[in-house]
Amino acid sequence: MCAIFGVGSHKEASKITYLGLHALQHRGQEGAGIVSTTDGEPHVCRRKGHVAEVFTESALNRLHGSAAIGHTRYSTTGGNTMANLQPLLMKSSFGWVGIAHNGNLVNAAALTQKLEAEGSIFQSTNDTEVIIHLMARSRERDPERALIEALRQVEGAYSLLVLVKDKLIAVRDPYGFRPLVLGEFLGGPVFASETTAFDLVGAAYKREIAPGEMVVVPLEAPKNMVSTFPFEKTLKRRCVFEAIYFARPDSVLYDQSVHTMRKDFGRVLADEHPALGADVVIPVPDSGVPAAIGFAERSGIPFDMGIIRSHYIGRTFIEPGQAIRDFGVKLKLNPVREAIQGKKVVVVDDSLVRGTTSKKLIKHLRDTGGAKEVHVRISAPPTAYPCFYGIDTPTRSELLASSHSIEKIRDYIGADSLGYLSLDGLLKSISLKSGEGFCHACFSGEYPTPI
Ligand code: AMP
Repeated sequence: MCAIFGVGSHKEASKITYLGLHALQHRGQEGAGIVSTTDGEPHVCRRKGHVAEVFTESALNRLHGSAAIGHTRYSTTGGNTMANLQPLLMKSSFGWVGIAHNGNLVNAAALTQKLEAEGSIFQSTNDTEVIIHLMARSRERDPERALIEALRQVEGAYSLLVLVKDKLIAVRDPYGFRPLVLGEFLGGPVFASETTAFDLVGAAYKREIAPGEMVVVPLEAPKNMVSTFPFEKTLKRRCVFEAIYFARPDSVLYDQSVHTMRKDFGRVLADEHPALGADVVIPVPDSGVPAAIGFAERSGIPFDMGIIRSHYIGRTFIEPGQAIRDFGVKLKLNPVREAIQGKKVVVVDDSLVRGTTSKKLIKHLRDTGGAKEVHVRISAPPTAYPCFYGIDTPTRSELLASSHSIEKIRDYIGADSLGYLSLDGLLKSISLKSGEGFCHACFSGEYPTPI
């Protein structure tokens, strides 16, 4: 998970980055940071908390310079500690390096062990630090070539923004697991995890950074940016779960509208698992809304907002941890009695992971909302395998679908019926113009890399 944002040529680069991170807050709420540079010197601010809390006006005023990179964190590797907050900023023989990473390296543990055995001292438990150590050990004196050499040794998911004294570098791993997009802002380049950040700052979306692409922006002449493909070619495997749940619906992901993709998932879901005779389709807000609209449109069953989500819970309830998740559901979601009382209700959600949300919510819909029947429709296939590429999924034993049939899951969550979108149906409705493929390991167990 996590978000990255970077700008190479703006006199208020850190303020633009701060705004960009605001739009990307949904990708990580544990902490945030910015590294900026002026006259070849770096400035850094990193703290735990939401973007709005981390960057006070005085903190932003200290982040001078016309280039900056930023990060919001959701820990997948390494705990939620100060040392693990990003962008990392470290010194090496070729100067300082700031690095912001979205993704997860699958061979980080093995590389860390090897590097430690050879004398490296790690400051964090963050897999991103491996990249800096590998860069520092490179014989290359140019940070760009050292970065390429380092990245050729790592395996897994990385969308990276790297800032050094005279360059901003954007790079995406050859599989293209995590998103990364390029925009244009006042004639210079800007990078973000999602296009919604461009909308906020007023930048124009140009294109995806392609899987395996590296874009180097010279800070002295940002318009002279250079794109190369320095890695061995491999199958492209963009993350399908970004389209299902993670990205914001107002973003353009893989050159398609997330909102439209999700409505399409709902339409196909209605074909595959119609809820004949139901009275109303309601989404689990916010992430279930587009799929529920699609389901209602295709099935002809009226749509209503039968559940209201509180937006004032704060980050405590979206941090990892079963105990927190359990009691968070009621605080977060409440039924609208007038919309569902005495009705046969279709509840559309984007995914079912541990089943905690659905189980508690269905009971709440019956007990508090007075629903007569509750039919659950999930706009994704059963999540049966953990993600090792940067989405925070629990271990296999905690994933309900790894060990339970759909009928058992239905019984556990207490639904009258349960239907999941099939993997075929999902892939049919999201196909890329280029014909390139997706990573759907969380549903199929087909991991594109050795784990
Ligand atoms: P669960 O209660 O574990 O079944 O979680 C299902 C709910 O969590 C769904 O409403 C999803 O929208 C949401 N969800 C799915 N994947 C994730 C994730 N990786 N992190 C946080 N929430 C998620």
